[in-house]
Amino acid sequence: MLVDTFGRTATDLRVSLTDRCNLRCTYCMPAEGLPWLPKAELLTDDEIVRLVGVAVERLGVDEVRFTGGEPLVRPGVVDLVARVAALEPRPRISLTTNGIGLARLAPGLKAAGLDRVNVSLDTLDDAVFRKLTRRDRFADVVDGLAAAAGAGLTPVKVNSVLMRGINDAEAPHLLRWCLERGYELRFIEQMPLDAQHGWDRAEMITADEILAALEREFTLTPEGEQVRGAAPAETWLVDGGPGRVGVIASVTRPFCGACDRVRLTADGQVRTCLFAREESDLRAAVRSGAGDAELAERWRTAMLGKKRAAGIGEPDFVQPDRPMSAIGG
Ligand code: SAM
Ligand code: SF4
Repeated sequence: MLVDTFGRTATDLRVSLTDRCNLRCTYCMPAEGLPWLPKAELLTDDEIVRLVGVAVERLGVDEVRFTGGEPLVRPGVVDLVARVAALEPRPRISLTTNGIGLARLAPGLKAAGLDRVNVSLDTLDDAVFRKLTRRDRFADVVDGLAAAAGAGLTPVKVNSVLMRGINDAEAPHLLRWCLERGYELRFIEQMPLDAQHGWDRAEMITADEILAALEREFTLTPEGEQVRGAAPAETWLVDGGPGRVGVIASVTRPFCGACDRVRLTADGQVRTCLFAREESDLRAAVRSGAGDAELAERWRTAMLGKKRAAGIGEPDFVQPDRPMSAIGG
């Protein structure tokens, strides 16, 4: 098992398939620049399946989430899902995507074994979408969401990050829109992970602000800690249910004590936390001929470096060098 020195066990593996993306969300990437990882440094499909296999078959990982960058821009994504679904014991498989390309890929992903998707959508206003993502792809995301639901990738979850003065007034509208379509909305507090280091805590929309805005239009009933478990979203039933809304308050209500996650970057580095400043190189081990037992041992050792908490609020907090798009959100 992947146990750290604070007694937490990682069972939820986030695998970044690429650092590339077809959007340029302002809270994630700069308008231009940001060099991509060289292709030779990226894990091949076979290397990804091998490492995920070690995690699932030897280290107790039971949930695999593909992310990025934008995971759907990786050509082999459907095949990767199929190969991971063939592992024993079969892990649950999910995907975090900006939704572009999902209209085309959703049925194939479902058939390959994908269980669930999270689609990121921060606004329902085409013009705001263009401003926030710097690309004109709003309709593609909306179509992608509908295709995911149509393909049975349920529950379809929607991730939204609110930015002050840009889309923060949209919180109730986003919730109503998602409820009408059967999507489960989760707001994510903006974190200091943008490539351009522009995050400002004072500018961030907090969980309390989000909840206050929603409560002006809806009755929210907390679902309680038992539902939260190791899942970072605190959830509320909306107007008595069954619709619900979640808030991932990574900054104002961190959930590090219950963290069950570990990450593998597209270039084969194990990261024990989004905010880790150290990584462990499994790509070098794979490419130098390490056997599965050695890879598992290296991975277990990497977990011993996992910190007690991300420490975003602490005076000595330093943002990691890698941006979110290169870590895998
Ligand atoms: N491209 C895919 C997407 O956007 O869903 C997957 C990768 S993206 C890095 C994963 C999630 O992280 C998205 O929901 C995105 O909104 C969120 N995200 C990106 N930068 C963030 C930040 N600085 N703070 C909070 N969430 C962020
Ligand atoms: Fe791309 Fe996702 Fe980052 Fe937006 S949040 S720029 S969609 S990786």
